[in-house]
Parts: sequence; structure tokens; C-alpha cells
Amino acid sequence: MTHKPRVAYFYDPDVGNYYYGPGHPMKPHRLSLTHSLVLSYDLFQHMEIYRPLKATAFDMCTFHSEDYINFLQRVTPQNIGGFTSSRFNVGEDCPVFPGMFDFCSIYSGASLDGAVKLNNNQADIVINWSGGFHHAKKFEASGFCYVNDIVLAILELLKHHARVLYIDIDIHHGDGVQEAFYLTDRVMTVSFHRYGNYFFPGTGDLFEVGLERGKFYSVNVPLKEGIDDESFLSIFKPVVEKVVSFYQPSCVVLQCGADSLAGDRLGCFNLSIRGHGDCVKFVKKLHLPLLVLGGGGYTIRNVARCWAYETALILGKDIDHLIPTNEYYDFYAPDYSLLPDLVSNSKTDNHNTRQYLDLIQQSVTEHLRMLPGAPAVQMQEIPPDFSRLELPPEDSTDMDIRYNSYERDKIVSYNAEFYDLGNKFSDHS
Ligand SMILES: [Zn+2]
Repeated sequence: MTHKPRVAYFYDPDVGNYYYGPGHPMKPHRLSLTHSLVLSYDLFQHMEIYRPLKATAFDMCTFHSEDYINFLQRVTPQNIGGFTSSRFNVGEDCPVFPGMFDFCSIYSGASLDGAVKLNNNQADIVINWSGGFHHAKKFEASGFCYVNDIVLAILELLKHHARVLYIDIDIHHGDGVQEAFYLTDRVMTVSFHRYGNYFFPGTGDLFEVGLERGKFYSVNVPLKEGIDDESFLSIFKPVVEKVVSFYQPSCVVLQCGADSLAGDRLGCFNLSIRGHGDCVKFVKKLHLPLLVLGGGGYTIRNVARCWAYETALILGKDIDHLIPTNEYYDFYAPDYSLLPDLVSNSKTDNHNTRQYLDLIQQSVTEHLRMLPGAPAVQMQEIPPDFSRLELPPEDSTDMDIRYNSYERDKIVSYNAEFYDLGNKFSDHS
């Protein structure tokens, strides 16, 4: 990668208009706020901005089951009563809202497009703040997530890359991504998250390390509430450094959930925007092709601040800490600061002692030492990029008719990577 990375930014102006429903903490509107900040800071002049293609049901089925995606495509708030037996975990956390499938198509299409850009070496870093839905499972929705765009993007990256590193700094465990690649050594998942006291989703224990070929290729850093910048970075940096040196990935996917910030409506960490951004900066300095995604984040003014700030970091641009006038200026009252002090108002103490963090780091290092070295991969014939697939007629919903089995086998080449861990994890949830 050259010194100045080529940055591609994917944004669909419709994505912020979807609405999970009254009282629901997930607000896609935060993406409109983020984009408006990015524009008002003139950051668009330093990167390529793309409107993504929408992912099709077929694209989604490279990971998800057909009956689940069929359901997402067909269900509406009006007809959900007709689906009596299988509801695929939609309901309170994952409501069926108008346009739900389109919303999924947009954020997933952006992650997939981003992966293709990296695969074709048309960008060094790709940003999709609308992506990062790390809880979605092969067969069901979970934790506000329906389609797992991260898994889809990683599968796309695996067409060109032997080893993909996934890093997750959302306050919640990246369970859906870990589960999808639990059996393979071609993806290493590393999640830093709150763990314990039934905090959602309940997985992400230090000793969940992967199975079979994937043993020791899942890394979990379970943290207690109230972690601050200094503590977080003191474990984030050495763990990522060690993972990279042991695993030698050829590209990285970074999930930047902003619910790890202090003052988040659902979170309980004490990271500042600057501290959160330091993680992004650290990963950028690995100088590997990088897909940067959003994720959680429920105090939306701070989510927008964080992701706009991180866009600037990725571009290597210093920006004014006073927020420029923009469409959503009032959200940033009363200080109108890009980097307000989120931490001193926090009522949560840091429960992570030095001793505790050292213990985790030591344990993670021991697991990494068990790795045989960077695994070699016999690359097979490269499947076509997702956007170049022959698309079905718009009105067709029966995927078995649209694709014959030969086409399907040719394109879906990574089923062996998937493994359903439903039973293994059931004692946690
Ligand atoms: Zn989260």
C-alpha cells in the first residue's frame, strides 16, 4: 500500500430513512447524520464516493439459508401474522419494519461492493458505515441484525485472499461472524467486548477459541464494564499486533461499533471518540487492505461524531473540532464539538484491573502460540465477483428455479466453512 491510501466510501442516501419503530434503539438515521458530517468537513474531496449495488437474495444465500432469506423477502408488518411456525427470531429486538429487506440489501451490498473493490485492488481502504451487522446468524436474526454483511464480505474476500483477519470493537461480542468461521483457519476473528452478567449476546468467553481446523483462530477478549481508553488500548494494541504477526493476514475487516463509547444508550464502556479512533488508526498502520464497517451505536449524535472523525483519520486529515454547519447541526448542541468529553460524565467505574487485563493478554498469547504458523491455502479457481453474477428477473423469488445446481455449486464455494454452533452456545444464552 502506498503511503497515502486510496479510500473508497460507500453510501446510499436511502439508508438513513429506514425506521425500526418507535422506541427501538437502532436508528438508521445515524447514517444520515454521519454522512452529513463527512460532507460538511469536505472529506468527500479526498476519497471516492460510491452508491453501492443492492445485494440480492442470492448474494445473501452464500451464507444464509434460503428459507430464512425467503422469509425476510416476503414478510411485512401486515402479513407477519400469517407466518405461524417459523419466524426466524424476528420480533421485539429484530422487528419486521417497512422496507426491512431493502435496508438489508443496501447495507449488505455496500459491504460486498467494498470487498470487490479491495479484491480488484481498486482501493486500499473501503468504508461502509451502514454495515457491520455482526449478530445475524445463518438461520435467523439476532441483536438488531438480519443479514450478516460482514460474513458475506469476508466470503467475497476469501475468493482472493488466503487469510482474512476480522477485528471487532463493538461493545457486543461479534458472535455471528465468529460462528460462521469457527471451523476454519482462513479467517481469524478477534472480538473485544463486554462479557458477563448476561450482557448480550452472552458469548465471547476467553476459552471460545475455535474448533477443528479453526482451533485457536477465534480470539476473544472479554472485558468488564467501564473500560477506558488507556486500559482498552493497552490490550487492543498488543493483541492485534501478536495476532497479525502469528497469522499474517493479507487483508483486514474492522467492525467499528460505536456502542463502546462512553455515554452510549445501551453500552457501558468508557471509551472516548479519540480512544475509539486510536484503534482504527492502529489497524490502518498495518498497511493491509482494509474494509471498515459500522456496527452498534445508540447515542446517535456520538455515533456520527465518531464515524466522521474516523473517516478523517483514515484519510489522514486533521479536521476542526468545532462542527461545521450542516443539516443536523442541532444534534451537536450545546458544545458543537466533534470530540466532546464523554467520559467525565460517565457514572461507570472501570472494573478492569491491570491484573485482569494482563491475565487475559497472557491467555490470548498462549492460545496464539498454539498456532502452527500462518496456514497455507491451496487457492482454487476464483469464483466470479458478486456483482458480475447473472442476476435473476426482478420479480422472481424462487431461487431454486432461478439457478440450476451447476451455477450454484460454481458460485457458492465455501459452505464447508460454516458451522452451526447452536447447541454449543446454548448454555450461555
Ligand atoms: Zn453492539
